[in-house]
Amino acid sequence: MDQIYNFSAGPAVLPREVLQQARDEMLDWHGSGMSVMEMSHRGKEFMAIAKQTESDLRELVGIPQNYKVLFLQGGASSQFSMLPMNLLRGKKKADYINTGQWSTKAIEEANRYCTVNVAASSAEANFTYVPTQDKWQLNSDAAYVHYTSNETIGGVEFNWIPEIPVENNIPLVADMSSNILSRPLDVKRFGLIYAGAQKNLGPAGLTLVIVREDLLGMPIAGTPTLYDYQIHAKNDSMYNTPPTYAMYITGLVFAWLKTQGGLAAMETINITKANLLYDLLDNTDFYHCPVTKPDRSRMNVPFTLKNSGLDDTFLKQAENNGLIQLKGHRSVGGMRASIYNAMSMEGVAKLAAFMKEFASQHA
Ligand code: PMP
Repeated sequence: MDQIYNFSAGPAVLPREVLQQARDEMLDWHGSGMSVMEMSHRGKEFMAIAKQTESDLRELVGIPQNYKVLFLQGGASSQFSMLPMNLLRGKKKADYINTGQWSTKAIEEANRYCTVNVAASSAEANFTYVPTQDKWQLNSDAAYVHYTSNETIGGVEFNWIPEIPVENNIPLVADMSSNILSRPLDVKRFGLIYAGAQKNLGPAGLTLVIVREDLLGMPIAGTPTLYDYQIHAKNDSMYNTPPTYAMYITGLVFAWLKTQGGLAAMETINITKANLLYDLLDNTDFYHCPVTKPDRSRMNVPFTLKNSGLDDTFLKQAENNGLIQLKGHRSVGGMRASIYNAMSMEGVAKLAAFMKEFASQHA
């Protein structure tokens, strides 16, 4: 088959080397005679995989010792409720920043458990920017402050970490589903970070949570056992069966990231890849990117064609050139190129060349 470049927003492209290794180890992992899928999660083979996966992540990111790493299921959406259930800790309010459809979903779910104060929102501008922090109205009695570091649909990314006044001792929480590990990450600035795996980490089915230990152990009454972070933390994510195969592949991705030079190296590459597309979008009026420049996502690049009548032709010709999954989210239309860590520079360059050519043909 010809080389395909997959720009899906998630589940998304994985590093080829990772898939090749998984293929080679599919029937017999390291001489065990078993596929990873067939292993007991409590057996020595899988325990070794889990241990290596966590230690590679800790090393890549530099996760402080007083943070737990949890390998859960349920997707990032389950975190929309697990978070307030655990982090309200007797308080009645939480602050949320609304920068798009995923923040909105997190807010809707949190509203079931507490009073949500939307401290800032870009809804009035159709979620095309991140409100600067001088516009935020934070509550001093909020249990936590939540934001979505990258809005996968809108292509709006925080290129900065919010500052929460230290005297308020309020943990900062981020949904990093679509930009985790795309750049260095200062974990100690956060109380909790969560991410679904299927964009920048690995296959769907795994949900990663990084949480400061002192926030654990105070879930609201009636919290189901599996929704209590403390249960998973105390049992090294083995209270019940974790998504073993997804953890294994994610572990291979962590090892791959280390060979690429780690998060600082990924950031440099990601900036170059994103600039290639944004520069092209800005240098023509054939295409348009709705997001304000400082808040443009390095991971999801949304754009429209000035003449939307050409959308189908664009997608068809792109596909003929091996450039697939470029259709924008059904709620916004247009196009979206998701260019996570595993998307090569070559793939982005190929897309940019195609877009240039398409524009010149249809101008
Ligand atoms: N948050 C963000 C930023 C997302 O992009 C997504 C998935 N596209 C979700 C949450 C929901 O994740 P899941 O489908 O894993 O529940």
